[in-house]
Amino acid sequence: MAPISTETDYLVIGGGSGGLASGRMASARFGAKTMVIEGSRLGGTCVNVGCVPKKVTFNAAAIAETIHNAKAYGFSVQETAPFDWTTFKNKRDAYVKRLNGIYERNLNKDGVEYVHGWAKLLSKNEVEVTTDDGTKSVVRAKKILLAMGGNPTPPPSIPGADYGINSDGFFDIEKRPGKVALVGAGYIAVEFAGMFHTLGTETHLFIRHKTFLRSFDPMIQETVTKEYQRIGVNLHQESHVSRVEKDASTGKLTITYKTADGTESVVSDVDHLIWAIGRDPATKDVGLEKAGVELTSKGHVVVDQYQNTNVEGVYALGDITGQVELTPVAIAAGRRLSERLFGGEQFSTARLDYDNIPSVVFAHPEVGSIGLSEPQAIAKYGEENIKVYKTGFTAMYYSMMEPEEKGPTNYKLIVTGPEEKVVGLHIMGLGSGEMLQGFGVAIKMGATKSDFDRCVAIHPTSAEEIVTLK
Ligand code: NDP
Repeated sequence: MAPISTETDYLVIGGGSGGLASGRMASARFGAKTMVIEGSRLGGTCVNVGCVPKKVTFNAAAIAETIHNAKAYGFSVQETAPFDWTTFKNKRDAYVKRLNGIYERNLNKDGVEYVHGWAKLLSKNEVEVTTDDGTKSVVRAKKILLAMGGNPTPPPSIPGADYGINSDGFFDIEKRPGKVALVGAGYIAVEFAGMFHTLGTETHLFIRHKTFLRSFDPMIQETVTKEYQRIGVNLHQESHVSRVEKDASTGKLTITYKTADGTESVVSDVDHLIWAIGRDPATKDVGLEKAGVELTSKGHVVVDQYQNTNVEGVYALGDITGQVELTPVAIAAGRRLSERLFGGEQFSTARLDYDNIPSVVFAHPEVGSIGLSEPQAIAKYGEENIKVYKTGFTAMYYSMMEPEEKGPTNYKLIVTGPEEKVVGLHIMGLGSGEMLQGFGVAIKMGATKSDFDRCVAIHPTSAEEIVTLK
């Protein structure tokens, strides 16, 4: 391996979505001498143990659903018994590996020095790098970007908690489990539960409250929670897992949990328990205290709207800042930062606007959301100053199916003021994931309800209901 540079303009700690985007732009577009340090696989959470392999698995689940539904359209296809999880997993791993290689080649092409190793700050402009063979070097940097991302939150301290795995471990599961249990109520738990169930695994989801996805609009929370129950996910509402035991001979788990009325129950013969109870920032043991970088009580790096930390020349973005933990947010913040730091006068105020960021939960059905939920809109504008347009219907796709096969579609548009400016859009149903992006552009541009109305509907689609709301 070539010796590591001892000086650089821009040192990026973390080769995930945000760090790579920022580093590549700084080097390729603005000519800054840039180094990216990554101790694990390039691409970070999204590529290796997040969005990418998750979406591929979601696609597998969608195909299983289509095969199941095909009968209703007159096909006599055989149902998927069994889904070959192992072959699928190996192909998925190979795809991720290919992406790792592409990311490395892109760094090369863009002239970024890539160091596979672990970084530790020694001061606000010195970083110690330990490479795989244990060699330590010190790099002086004019500017440092902290983009280390996060890790799954460890399980609570209950007996046997460590028999469970986290979302990283999900991607190591080698064969289709017969029975799984998930704890958590956010994006990850809901997405995984939907995929397991659709791929034919008996799925138990433990949530602390009556609904999941509680940061979403109540319409989403309530309808998707009901839908999970309807499709047959075993939902344990208002429950707390209190103990996990492992059978030494079979390796199967028994999960003991308590419900709100204090009743204790068990779910046994579980192949995998997955804790999906949030993510913590990777800000420990990286020397942030040596540089004097301020952290919140939860360990996130404190940044202003320009991604500046409290230390001059040290910047942070992505999951370690706890802003909006989404890959495209980190990428956009990284690019704006490089423009501002290296792009000269014309970019001196470049920054990411964190308002109206669309996001999708690849649940069953898909959920999309942008802007304020109804309670947030009421809190911000007052109940008398908002108006809510809603619809609920059965998508035409289900017209050929029996009543019990039909999933719900629900849309909610929230507007404010006499001009009826759109401040929130919440959608759930088939195709919502692909649908939201375009509406996101309109909302980001400041669209009003009448702008939506003026767009001629595309018929027959589900999306047309959003431009014909009464
Ligand atoms: P989230 O923060 O979305 O949800 C975790 C939830 O788990 C909490 O909100 C809480 O819900 C529940 N919880 C917390 N502690 C416990 C506990 N001890 N026992 C039981 N339940 C608990 O975290 P995730 O891990 O799902 O995802 C992390 C982030 O990753 C997300 O915020 C998202 O930004 C990102 N992500 C995005 C995806 C996408 O864009 N499609 C997909 C996956 C992840 P409650 O209070 O209701 O109990």
